[in-house]
Amino acid sequence: MTRNRGKRIRKPAQSQVLGRDAGNGHLEFRLEAFSPDGSEGHLPEGTRLEDLPTKFCAAPECKNGKDLKKCSRCKSAMYCSSACQKRDWPNHKAQCLLNVTQAASFGGFDNEPPLQRHLRHFTARFEGSLTCAAIVALGICHDFANAGRKALVIALTPRAHEHPGARFLVRSVTVMTMTQLETFMHILEPAGGAATLAQHQLERAKIRERHSGAKDFTAALLYATGGEGEGMAMRFKPICVDRAMAASPAFRDETLDWETTLRIQVERDMPARAT
Ligand SMILES: [Zn+2]
Ligand SMILES: [Zn+2]
Repeated sequence: MTRNRGKRIRKPAQSQVLGRDAGNGHLEFRLEAFSPDGSEGHLPEGTRLEDLPTKFCAAPECKNGKDLKKCSRCKSAMYCSSACQKRDWPNHKAQCLLNVTQAASFGGFDNEPPLQRHLRHFTARFEGSLTCAAIVALGICHDFANAGRKALVIALTPRAHEHPGARFLVRSVTVMTMTQLETFMHILEPAGGAATLAQHQLERAKIRERHSGAKDFTAALLYATGGEGEGMAMRFKPICVDRAMAASPAFRDETLDWETTLRIQVERDMPARAT
């Protein structure tokens, strides 16, 4: 068992089912086993992020970069096959419309800067980890209404890694109220921040109605500063939360250090998965 500041990090030996989706019965969130040394996939020191290819299939488990076709709705996410697109749809659905809004801020996806592209892959790959972290950090496990009150704000540092979805490390994590988030997004992105948040509130109303309050979207804002000339990338991520799943006793375990768990999952490229 690994120790950190006296707090227990999730048991590394096996994956743990945290909850079951009440709707379809087959969505399980797992904190995957950590690899023993976590060195897998690291690229030689000195490898620059901007030298690595940026176009890959958007399905979290796929590294294919050939024969990609764009999602016909948002023209953002690209897939190597219809099988990958189908598999990713539950994750992509909420993001699809937001993609259109967010793309407007950099002039459409054909102009998407490389750093932004890496960030998009990272956000898709770590969806499960972000969900688990948000449920604990925002107190959604205690009061489901917290899903709409606060958001996770995550600062990232680029790192060279073999997997296109693993090219960042967590620099800091902050919890903000939605009002603070709005101000913060306005500073980072005066053009698109407000529209993105308005779209988010619309999607929240829809999903709550469709599932009679059993599901909601909470939010994470991820941003990264790149190397010279790369500027900054920011991505707003709606996170689907399920009332039954959020109520899982595993999330209320006082010894669970969500921030360290998130950092380790990102560092070792071991995302928590919805299976
Ligand atoms: Zn694929
Ligand atoms: Zn799409």
